Amino acid sequence: MVKRTVLLNPGPVNVTDRVRAALGKGDFCHREPEISELIARVRARLIDIFCSGGAYKAVLVMGSGSAALEMAVSATVQGDDRLLVVNNGTYGDRISKVALAHGQKVAELHGPPTERPDLGRLESMLALDGNLRWIAVVHHETTTGLVNPIMEIARIARRHGRRILVDAISGLACDPLPIVELGLDLVVGTANKAIQDPGVSFVLGSAEALAAASDLRPTSHYLHLPLLLSEQESGSHPFTTAVQVLFAFDEALAELSLETLTGRILRMSQRAQLLRTGFEKLGLSALIPEKHASNALTSLKLPEGKSYAALHDALKARGFVIYAGQGQLATKIFRVANMGAIEVAELEEFLAALGDALHGGDRPTAATERPPDVATV
Ligand SMILES: *Cc1c(COP(=O)(O)O)cnc(C)c1O
Repeated sequence: MVKRTVLLNPGPVNVTDRVRAALGKGDFCHREPEISELIARVRARLIDIFCSGGAYKAVLVMGSGSAALEMAVSATVQGDDRLLVVNNGTYGDRISKVALAHGQKVAELHGPPTERPDLGRLESMLALDGNLRWIAVVHHETTTGLVNPIMEIARIARRHGRRILVDAISGLACDPLPIVELGLDLVVGTANKAIQDPGVSFVLGSAEALAAASDLRPTSHYLHLPLLLSEQESGSHPFTTAVQVLFAFDEALAELSLETLTGRILRMSQRAQLLRTGFEKLGLSALIPEKHASNALTSLKLPEGKSYAALHDALKARGFVIYAGQGQLATKIFRVANMGAIEVAELEEFLAALGDALHGGDRPTAATERPPDVATV
């Protein structure tokens, strides 16, 4: 039996004891010099890990990933300029919703959630409409586990002289994203997915994109990127801060530095492989072909006759939390993420529990028709 609940949902994640201990550092006022130092240290760590060697700055947001996303999206286009949103999943769709809420003009490159976007159509949309000044795209579409072709999209953006915003909330530290090499303008990340921390989100911005953002009329006071940037540059934060969460984030980033970004991505990839080999042995099929699948999460087709609720509850009783599909996929798939401080032994126990839940005591009659090698695990 496992001793703790293992979170196989795509954030929040299991964290290390070191990160958890930092939450209990004590009580502090966020206006004191030790907290200015903490803010400066965390911002410097983010740059060092994700975009060293480029002219980038990190802006922290004391909210979930969507807060940072909203701050970044509202810092892109205004007036007649339009945002081209690559929408092939729930999170692409959310970018459009955020932009529309800020009164921004949006065009969408819409595509099925199981497929990579049509880059030829992207090219022609840009060629036809010079007002499409920014492209926004999700790095890892958590809806399905699909990784979008950021490198190709960034190259197209460069060729047409457009800027690019990437929602890398569930992709950072899981799948490669060479921010500096690709010249990405705004990249949105969060603490509580592959960075293995309870909270805080952030935007990594190029110097030019951040400067351009200060020419726009603010459409939010609380989530105004230039305001947060200028305050954080002077070691402060304009609003009352959950200091303990920042201490934990500092530790999580220190651990990531120690493991190295490449090391973390490799670990996530090995965990995903371990799970996928196990899923195959259990006769489960993946929604996304391996060549486009992320290192963060696997979407699996729900076997005939199995309800998500029954599967979820059986696994939760054994100490594992899996995740439902979203939207139209809610009744068709379930999702298993492998981000966080999880042991290999825990993943092996999970596979055994999943096998029991699928083919164990409550085996549906249809399952007896399975080939014997997959039916008896
Ligand atoms: C989780 C997620 C979000 C939303 O982040 P919250 O922390 O829940 O606000 C946005 N985009 C992607 C791709 C995500 O995976």
